[in-house]
Amino acid sequence: MLPERLQALLILQDRDQRRVQLEKALTQVPRERATVESRIAAHKTAIDAAKKAVTDLELKRKEIEATLQGFEEQIRKYRSQQMLVKKNDEYQALTREIELTTAKIGETEEAEIKVLYDLDTEKEKTKAAEKAVRAEIAAEEAQLGRLAEREKQARDDLAGAVAEVDKARSAVQAELLPRYDRLAKTAGLPVVVALHAGKCGGCHLKVSNGVETEARKGSEIVCCDNCGRILYFQA
Ligand SMILES: [Zn+2]
Repeated sequence: MLPERLQALLILQDRDQRRVQLEKALTQVPRERATVESRIAAHKTAIDAAKKAVTDLELKRKEIEATLQGFEEQIRKYRSQQMLVKKNDEYQALTREIELTTAKIGETEEAEIKVLYDLDTEKEKTKAAEKAVRAEIAAEEAQLGRLAEREKQARDDLAGAVAEVDKARSAVQAELLPRYDRLAKTAGLPVVVALHAGKCGGCHLKVSNGVETEARKGSEIVCCDNCGRILYFQA
């Protein structure tokens, strides 16, 4: 039997639980948002890393080009020196230098071909990776949008729930409210619970026989002798 004056309290409790649920959902939003934002940041870092590989190779290519120009300049110098030298062995020595430098040019050009090849591969890879990552970022951003919508909805719902709680409070007997509020604070919701099979529906411990007898009668407000919650008897 549910004493009549507990009915209004149960309605209040129901609305308070809804309010608490919405408040809890709202407190989780910033953490969820931070998680999504950190995933977006990680995606962006991945793109930057892929781009850096391309930039590094382009730099290497420029260095190689500069080295090749240096070698060619060197050969031009040797050739002009050759036109000035008078002795044959000096001329031969310069020919050897030219040959050595030409060989170096060959090696460097091979290295450049490898870099160009790597550059092509890396550019392709980066392009594909960037496309994939952009799609991931777009999905995460859509998630942020949904999160914002959900947050707005929860805020609206919460405002409604608070109004409902206020309305429900006004229907509860005034002397019951302080006890309800105190219990909500100390024991936590639910505050009004069923007493079933001799056990309190809040703390799940067995209540004393006296409490059970009183709850059965349903004429007085009866509290659990373990947790203090307000009990109503349920067969
Ligand atoms: Zn209890």
